[in-house]
Amino acid sequence: MERKNIPVAEPMLDNKELEYATDAIKSGWISSKGSYIKKFEEKFAEYCGSNYAVSCNNGTSALHLALLALGIKRGDEVILPTFTYIATANAIRYVGAKPIFVDTKKEDWNINPKKIESKITPKTKAILCVHLYGVPCDMNQIMDISKRKNIFVVEDCAEAHGAKYFGKKVGSIGDIGCFSFFGNKIITTGEGGMCVTNRKDLVDKMELFRNQGMSKERRYWHDEVGYNYRMTNIQAAIGLAQLEKIEHFLNIRKEHEDLYKKFLGNLKEIEFYKEKENINTVPWMHSILVNKRDELINFLKKRLIETRPFFFPVHTMPPYLTKENFPNSEIFSQRGINLPSSTNLSEKDIQRVCEDIKSFLKK
Ligand SMILES: *Cc1c(COP(=O)(O)O)cnc(C)c1O
Repeated sequence: MERKNIPVAEPMLDNKELEYATDAIKSGWISSKGSYIKKFEEKFAEYCGSNYAVSCNNGTSALHLALLALGIKRGDEVILPTFTYIATANAIRYVGAKPIFVDTKKEDWNINPKKIESKITPKTKAILCVHLYGVPCDMNQIMDISKRKNIFVVEDCAEAHGAKYFGKKVGSIGDIGCFSFFGNKIITTGEGGMCVTNRKDLVDKMELFRNQGMSKERRYWHDEVGYNYRMTNIQAAIGLAQLEKIEHFLNIRKEHEDLYKKFLGNLKEIEFYKEKENINTVPWMHSILVNKRDELINFLKKRLIETRPFFFPVHTMPPYLTKENFPNSEIFSQRGINLPSSTNLSEKDIQRVCEDIKSFLKK
């Protein structure tokens, strides 16, 4: 029988998205005005347990808007993990601030809060922490540092919609939480992003910067150099349909994670993230650590199974090159693989992936 290709991530869309998007098109409101934008923002804020949400055109602009709203600028420093997707660091550069990298812990791939304090200087304005691969980072420790040192916390939640930390949804804990709705995220609008916050003053600033810096009182009067970072009504329509199904998606993904663990969990060559009490992860991408990682990726590729290597630590790439070593980040980066992670995978697909991984390990 012919093997079908198993992609690493594929969105799951059905009649609901079609219905809402069609409604948006029929209404004529296809740009950044129209009823779905407010609806999606309100429902998303409610889902996160935050007072407000500001939609935008992608997750990178969400991070940029957050830093702009907090007044972070040239001469400031922002602390972030080096082990993250490039957008986290780029947003800091966009406002002219300096990214200050911190290594991850040994136990999981998130920022090590113990290493944050030694990096704080009088120029430090914020910690931009990342809940990487659906795993919430140590927010209690991070919020404690933020309070004692009087610095802001922005959460990059692009990979962790719906994850919880001591009962609170990620994004609702720091000053601003930023989300992405790119096609491979837990819910998608094609391209899209959102910032959530409890502070109305930050909402006003983010809305200002999103809309070319235009005054709300005086049309075509611009108080600031802003951006066009608006989400369209069609995207918001798709997003609303996706949001209505997010719990269902997360349940399916949890079942998939359990299947991967059932088939691979007892192999000594493979490590999974170890679940902790009071931390509810979301399986954005089913992730494992192995040796001979690149060989495994190539082996699976020949068997028509698409996977992804973990990110390169940001400090190892040309725009951010530093001499400092971040050993844990480098180890995670070398050993990590994201396995096929679409919500619409079947149990058979997962079984096939696991059988192939096992046969690779036997070689
Ligand atoms: C996807 C992602 C982003 C950026 O989102 P885009 O919508 O692609 O701009 C930012 N941070 C992390 C950790 C991501 O995974």
